Amino acid sequence: MGHIKGLKCRECGREYPIEPIYVCEFCFGPLEVAYDYTSIAKDISRKKIEKREKNLWRYRELLPIDGDPQVGLDSGFTPLLRAHNLAKVLGVDELYIKDDTVVHPTLSFKDRVVSIALTKAKEFGFDTVACASTGNLAHSVSAHGARAGFKRFIFIPASLEASKIVASLVYEPNLIAVDGNYDDVNRLCSEIANKYRWAFVNINIRPFYAEGSKTIGFEIIEQLGWKVPDNVVVPCASGSLLTKVWKSFKEFREVGIIREIGTKVYAAQATGCSPIASAIKKGTDVIRPVKPNTIAKSLAIGNPADGFYAAQVVKETGGYAEDVSDQEIIDAMKLLARTEGVFAETAGGVTLAAAKKMIESGKIKRDEVTVICITGNGLKTQEALQGHTLSPYYIKPSLASFEEVLSNVNKGV
Ligand SMILES: *Cc1c(COP(=O)(O)O)cnc(C)c1O
Ligand SMILES: [Zn+2]
Repeated sequence: MGHIKGLKCRECGREYPIEPIYVCEFCFGPLEVAYDYTSIAKDISRKKIEKREKNLWRYRELLPIDGDPQVGLDSGFTPLLRAHNLAKVLGVDELYIKDDTVVHPTLSFKDRVVSIALTKAKEFGFDTVACASTGNLAHSVSAHGARAGFKRFIFIPASLEASKIVASLVYEPNLIAVDGNYDDVNRLCSEIANKYRWAFVNINIRPFYAEGSKTIGFEIIEQLGWKVPDNVVVPCASGSLLTKVWKSFKEFREVGIIREIGTKVYAAQATGCSPIASAIKKGTDVIRPVKPNTIAKSLAIGNPADGFYAAQVVKETGGYAEDVSDQEIIDAMKLLARTEGVFAETAGGVTLAAAKKMIESGKIKRDEVTVICITGNGLKTQEALQGHTLSPYYIKPSLASFEEVLSNVNKGV
């Protein structure tokens, strides 16, 4: 289509052709896809986008593929919910939930990035896809990869929640459970990626994969009626999603889809793994790696690859960051379910709890438009709520037994 110029080093600016590579040979900086925005501006319009199917490929001019989309034709375009009930509880005027608890096929925002990664893997001619994952990426590569006909090698920390392991195994990938944390798994995968010609979606395909996260930002703008919000709150693991949400806003401005961006970007992390939030709160550019210890396992990356860039975006836009305890995460998961009927995974609890803190502290203004990115489904992390919900009423199969309960319910007992 002639919209992609190549890969470009984020540090030194050196340019590379479109290949399955991810680091600059000269300065070891990360590579990023570079587009020809002048040519895209001539080719894209709100009308053209609106006529397309309701999936993430409706923004295809700004996604790094050469031919037609091959994976994820049912992924993306999730609801943007106006959260009236939650807004009332938090004391804000206009609040939205970007609801990625319902992305096809595996119910987290990872289905977006994997759609682009596997389409690109097909274009590059790979027959095997692989990933290092904290859980959600494993599900998505397993599922999208099954349908697209790839051989799959999926690497996870052996300590993952049992339900997350089953939810990968059902697609019958080669699931490798590593005795170590995510950062250990990732290090091992970098070694393997050097040796085998596989498409590691978050290693050698990372520059393309990461672009998929922009679609959540494009959708937010379109669903707000082609407007940007004043505030957007984004959970951080590696920090990639946050940087790409911001990139999506800038690109829509660059190609003339919107005029101005006044958005502040806010980062959310769990206290038990908050290298990015800590740096932002301390006002330093140095991301100090940590050993993760939190129930928010999908965000548990102690040495975040894009942490520096995420902190820069927060600083540049005038946003802020917060970290929240495991108890605050659980309380927020329950609050979201109770007020808006949305069952988010622990990462969603992190994002909402952090947003709540920043509203209470005045960092997020109550009279502004705020979007909270909820990135994964609660059915994936039910263990986190064990012992933290109410119990059922146990009764005999008789009307009398039921009515005993009913009278207690009516009395508010
Ligand atoms: C992977 C993930 C994120 C964020 O990931 P980044 O590495 O920061 O891009 C957020 N929420 C969920 C549920 C995830 O699985
Ligand atoms: Zn470089």
